[in-house]
Amino acid sequence: MDLLIVGAGFFGLTVAERAAAAGRKVMVIDRRHHIGGNAYSEDEPTTGIEVHRYGAHLFHTSNPTVWEYVNRFTTFTSYVHKVYTNHHGVVFPLPINLGTINQFFQAAFTPDEARAIVRESADEFDAKSARNLEERGIGLIGRPLYEAFIRDYTAKQWQTDPRDLPAEVISRLPVRYTYDNRYFNDTWEGLPTDGYTAWLERMADHPNIEVKLGVDYFDDTQPLHKRATVGQVPVVYTGPVDRYFDYAEGALSWRTLDFEEEVLEVGDFQGTSVMNYADAEVPYTRIHEFKHFHPERADRYPTDRTVIMREYSRFATREDEPYYPVGTAEDRAGLLAYRRLVEGEHDVHFGGRLGTYQYLDMHMAIGSALSMWSNRLA
Ligand code: FAD
Ligand code: UDP
Repeated sequence: MDLLIVGAGFFGLTVAERAAAAGRKVMVIDRRHHIGGNAYSEDEPTTGIEVHRYGAHLFHTSNPTVWEYVNRFTTFTSYVHKVYTNHHGVVFPLPINLGTINQFFQAAFTPDEARAIVRESADEFDAKSARNLEERGIGLIGRPLYEAFIRDYTAKQWQTDPRDLPAEVISRLPVRYTYDNRYFNDTWEGLPTDGYTAWLERMADHPNIEVKLGVDYFDDTQPLHKRATVGQVPVVYTGPVDRYFDYAEGALSWRTLDFEEEVLEVGDFQGTSVMNYADAEVPYTRIHEFKHFHPERADRYPTDRTVIMREYSRFATREDEPYYPVGTAEDRAGLLAYRRLVEGEHDVHFGGRLGTYQYLDMHMAIGSALSMWSNRLA
């Protein structure tokens, strides 16, 4: 074995694929019983509808290197992601655009009129110097739209008052003065034509790659554990950075999600793939309806049944799957301390979302794995 990779998610598999293609023998271990990390999907057995096990995953990128690379393993459908939100029982388009604004104010504003209305209601705060998410939100879209679509949704999602959240969280959400309601701004987007798992399996399908599932790196009873391998073989570690160091600098905080899946005896539950629920009274943040991710599979999917998944958000304990880094001031200090420990670790390369405590989309995880391979490992 020339390289041990801990974690069979997109980061680990990208490094594995590159190393194998360069003639190295690679061992990949994962404590889960499947490859793919959080991007894993499988067909719901009674309907055959592809379900993303760890929450809906939409592929999008503007990085030509990543786009060329991923197209070696899969083709993509022409799916374009759109999201709607239910506020007080009425459905509005997201991200906030001219359609949302006009529907909300029951008006027919032109783009300039809408800009003026928003500016007027946004002058309490300057978005650029906002000290927290609430100030940034109000500075960007004004108080009425902020209170309707952002405040309670954000509080539900982060279980934290938006006044205690960093302003950056909201910067990801574009505001448009046209009727364009594409959720992402990227050059390329789509879903893998025959599913995420087929894509991920093709990445791992090389005679130089061996994958062992159900193997925890910190389990001393299995031969590939941390103490037996560090210093003996180069290691790429994509698990949680704090766990690697046994929480020596404290536990970093994460949000986790609970998913409630249901097969319904109706052909179409909500008419779209993702419906957000903006109000505090509804306990879940959104409902996914998976058949709408693949309209091109209409002739294969049942017409009288559908699979939905309600998503609930909460703080993660050590036993939960960590999904979103929270990034409080304390977490940022902890992360700096862990980065110093990482530097002292001989020939162990930390990558991916958990290994770097960064919210990476798939294209970012793949892009940073390609860089790690060519800049540090090759
Ligand atoms: P992971 O996929 O988390 O893989 C890490 C692997 O390491 C896991 O399989 C884990 O089991 C394994 N591991 C951890 N500890 C150990 C251990 N001790 N021993 C052995 N194995 C271990 N990205 C997008 O581009 N678009 C989206 O729409 C999108 N939606 C998302 C929705 C949700 C709910 C979540 C959580 C993420 C979403 N992402 C999305 C992000 C995407 O999941 C990540 O970019 C991608 O999974 C990162 O890959 P990774 O390899 O870094 O991490
Ligand atoms: N957001 C919101 N209302 C919505 C959708 C998003 O307030 O209906 C905010 C919320 O704070 C969220 C952020 O915008 O954390 C980013 O949204 P996105 O959909 O990108 O979040 P994801 O769930 O993909 O991380």
